[in-house]
Amino acid sequence: MVERDNPGLKLDRLEHKLGIRASDTANFVLEDCRVPKENLLGSPEIEVKQGFAGVMQTFDNTRPLVAGMAIGVARACLEATRVRLQEAGVEIDYDTPPHSQSAAAAEFLAMEADFEAARLLTLQAAWMADNGKPNSLQASMAKAKAGRTGTDIALRCVALCGSVGYGEGDLFEKWARDAKILDLFEGTQQIQLLVVARQLLGKTSAELK
Ligand SMILES: Cc1cc2nc3c(=O)[nH]c(=O)nc-3n(C[C@H](O)[C@H](O)[C@H](O)COP(=O)(O)OP(=O)(O)OC[C@H]3O[C@@H](n4cnc5c(N)ncnc54)[C@H](O)[C@@H]3O)c2cc1C
Repeated sequence: MVERDNPGLKLDRLEHKLGIRASDTANFVLEDCRVPKENLLGSPEIEVKQGFAGVMQTFDNTRPLVAGMAIGVARACLEATRVRLQEAGVEIDYDTPPHSQSAAAAEFLAMEADFEAARLLTLQAAWMADNGKPNSLQASMAKAKAGRTGTDIALRCVALCGSVGYGEGDLFEKWARDAKILDLFEGTQQIQLLVVARQLLGKTSAELK
């Protein structure tokens, strides 16, 4: 760990971003930066054998967490949208087929179904990680589905709530901005799909790029 006041660490600039503005993203330079050995995290030995595969194993644990964040944003959007729809007199009926309900209710039900699929994939991937089961495939599936669903739901809720959704007076526009990064970091949507495809088709990274 390099402490903020460590000589040789120069903070270049803070980035201005679309979303997650409460979390700083900074560009920094390390020049003649000597770090005390007490600051070392983990083993000083470089385990060559682990290499890239070792890094990828980290993702098996962290991708379900980012998927969980996307699920959280999607859930917040759905809960707030439900309140807004109720206020507007839109009834959501779980005993009537969506096509027999108002367009707004049908859209809400479709989003909830998508949300549930993403949530279950995320729970599965996280449960496997917690229980020491190989979960690369499930972690990438969960991240791909939840990242896409979170972004999709956040934007659809902005639209469904009209001017309230788009304005800064409520949290919808913030959630829509915050959701996108969850589809990008810890591996983008496209990279997750690539990982899933490689696993399902039994292809190496050289065979499927
Ligand atoms: C705000 C923010 C915070 C971040 N925080 C962290 C952090 O804390 N720790 C950390 O390690 N990283 C962090 N990152 C980095 C982040 O994980 C990467 O930016 C992200 O994984 C994308 O990688 P890249 O930037 O190298 O994009 P690139 O690999 O350059 O990709 C650019 C685009 O091309 C697409 N693409 C690339 N290869 C393929 C392919 N083979 N097929 C199809 N499409 C492809 C990608 O999907 C993407 O859309 C952060 C990034 C941001 C923006």
